[in-house]
Amino acid sequence: MKAEIIAVGTELLLGQIVNTNAQYLSQELAAMGIDVYYQTVVGDNASRLQGAIELASQRADILILTGGIGPTQDDLTKDALAAHVGRSLHIDRLAMDQIERFFAGRGINMTENNRRQALVIDGSTPLPNETGLAVGLALAQEDNFYIVLPGPPKEMKPMFDQQAKPWLLQHALTDEMPIYSKMLKFAGIGESLLEDRLLDLIDGQTDPTIAPYAKEGEVTVRISTKAPTEQEAMEKLNAMQGQIQSRLADHMYASMDVPIERIIVDMMADRGITLSAAESCTGGMLMESITSIPGSATMFVGGIVCYSNEMKEKLLHVPHALLEGDDAPGAVSAEVAEVLAENVRMITDSDFGLSVTGVAGPGYSERKPVGLVYVGIAQRGQKTEVFELKLNGNRETIRVRSVKTLLYRLWQ
Ligand code: ATP
Ligand code: MG
Repeated sequence: MKAEIIAVGTELLLGQIVNTNAQYLSQELAAMGIDVYYQTVVGDNASRLQGAIELASQRADILILTGGIGPTQDDLTKDALAAHVGRSLHIDRLAMDQIERFFAGRGINMTENNRRQALVIDGSTPLPNETGLAVGLALAQEDNFYIVLPGPPKEMKPMFDQQAKPWLLQHALTDEMPIYSKMLKFAGIGESLLEDRLLDLIDGQTDPTIAPYAKEGEVTVRISTKAPTEQEAMEKLNAMQGQIQSRLADHMYASMDVPIERIIVDMMADRGITLSAAESCTGGMLMESITSIPGSATMFVGGIVCYSNEMKEKLLHVPHALLEGDDAPGAVSAEVAEVLAENVRMITDSDFGLSVTGVAGPGYSERKPVGLVYVGIAQRGQKTEVFELKLNGNRETIRVRSVKTLLYRLWQ
């Protein structure tokens, strides 16, 4: 099955908004085993929109249109598709009721053009809009399947997930075997090195397919296969997971799509272990990532953001001689990372104390290179460990990677 996404809207062509709908839909379709060969963007113009639909219907089986189904005169998507398939439009009763209730509930008069949002093409399946007013639709005609979705992502996504996807599975993908996927999560390794270690597997492999991608300091590998039953799929996926793991064992921390902070929180909460943190260059990012996980209250006690040298001295009792002076190692050093981790652990009386100090850039500091980061892990009754990291990327990436790498070291 081949699909084409047509995003409708002059704002997209003017660069006023980014076509995130196409990105979302492409990812979802890929996960369903549907190949997206083209993404088209077309303005709010009837004849060009019809031309785009015409072309797409020749080169794709499934056409997914987003945008241009609101109440105004420039919302032309349904009209253009109706013209293309040679059918008329009618008002969908349920959608109209919803629109009328919406206006009545707010005590405002509904203008006539709002009726347009309830239009559907004759013979199509209306796709109710749970988060907005404009109804979507799904239509099968000749060899093509058409889906029309709203432009606003908060309406488009739930309509796709809850309405369009099941419709496609039932009407367009009946002959196809279902696709099953597994997500493997890695930390402490960059995307390119990971890909390098899996290169022959990725190149030689068509079933299961292996797709690595990096996001927010973590690398995810999605392995997917088609099989008649879940059990058969899982056998294939588990065998592939075994091969991948044998090459990257120390780096894989989960076989489902969870961030590493979740693994840490669950693990520590389960065992009744407590954690604290002292952060310099990450300015609280580490604590933010941990406290964003539900359940962190039972394991995370607190921490200190000690951005300046003065605060490192005052709040965390880092000796002045380590921070400043000709022979001082400086704030970005293994020595300071060690003291920060140990002292925050002692001050908070927690089982583990973490620390981060480094140069996030863009300029260097203390004549040290951008990306040089020290992370410390102090554990009650154990020798404190400090790791020197040499990270690449811009300020944001370096900060995120510092957090993820530290959590990865802690997990190990
Ligand atoms: P409305 O009822 O709001 O008019 P609509 O279905 O007619 O919805 P558009 O008018 O095309 O959709 O777009 C409405 C808004 O939705 C845009 O201003 C934009 O914020 C968002 N939007 C539209 N298309 C996209 C897209 N492809 N990617 C991301 N956002 C989009
Ligand atoms: Mg609109």
